[in-house]
Amino acid sequence: MFRTRHLKWVICESCAGNCKREHPAFSNGITSSEWAEWTPEEQETYMSGGYDVACDPCKGTGKVQVPDVSRMSFGEKREYVKYLREEAAERRLSREMAAEIAAERRMGC
Ligand SMILES: [Zn+2]
Repeated sequence: MFRTRHLKWVICESCAGNCKREHPAFSNGITSSEWAEWTPEEQETYMSGGYDVACDPCKGTGKVQVPDVSRMSFGEKREYVKYLREEAAERRLSREMAAEIAAERRMGC
């Protein structure tokens, strides 16, 4: 996480500010046969969001704090850009490594 005094709150993208999201077990939806096996009480709980879980990225607050680039000094902006670049490079590297491992597996190593 980039450390800066200049932060702002934005609506959490993961839950759109709703503070909670659907339970991971239901993320692929429910089939009609599964739905039919549920008791009316369970169906009621599901429809009213009773199985929802607190959103992780915003810790159930619906908002997240992000660096506010518009309030940063020039030097801080440069630091932030550097940070973002390093983070992107790290992500790319771990993706490449995962692809390499998968390729080796396919070759039977
Ligand atoms: Zn959230």
